Amino acid sequence: MIVKPPKFVQRILKSFIWRHNEDNNNIWLTFDDGPDSKVTPFILQILKNQQIKATFFLVGEQINKYPEILDMILNDGHIIANHSYSHKNGWFTNSKSYVNDVEKCQVFMPENNLFRPPYGKITPIQTRTLEKKYKIVLWDVLSYDFSEKIKPEKIKENIMKNTTKGSIIVLHNNHKSYNNLKLILHQTIKELKQKGFNFSTTW
Ligand SMILES: [Zn+2]
Repeated sequence: MIVKPPKFVQRILKSFIWRHNEDNNNIWLTFDDGPDSKVTPFILQILKNQQIKATFFLVGEQINKYPEILDMILNDGHIIANHSYSHKNGWFTNSKSYVNDVEKCQVFMPENNLFRPPYGKITPIQTRTLEKKYKIVLWDVLSYDFSEKIKPEKIKENIMKNTTKGSIIVLHNNHKSYNNLKLILHQTIKELKQKGFNFSTTW
């Protein structure tokens, strides 16, 4: 299980934002794959209770299904960003349709040009094309919240042990992660705050 991408990988793949160079105690909480009618309102409620903001990497298809949930995210003052229109795996998609799929989602995101490749899988050609227009954002801490095989407590531990100032943490806004998030999201945020971290949405 790789929670933290090795430093040498981060250095080689410089086109991507893995984390922020940070002097302050800021960290970036991100949620992928929404909006969803059940999971997103649950996450929003916790963020509201904890009075923090996050970045939601949204899928265009899901936005078309749940436009009212997109409005909820925006009304709460969170940042939305591009996670493609139909969540294609870049390794198995030709570059032209991959880039088109990203562009198709961007119409929902007039405020910024952040893009996170689905599964973190994107080819060098796709990267070269997209990096002209987009900031390609990966992560520094992958919590495995989408896994039904590991204990929820372990997911929290992955986050607590690997988060440092500047970290970008990825969580998921989907049904696979829902049961885990119900058990650990509130407590994890509380403990991150206790460690002195602030939650930033400035990219
Ligand atoms: Zn995704």
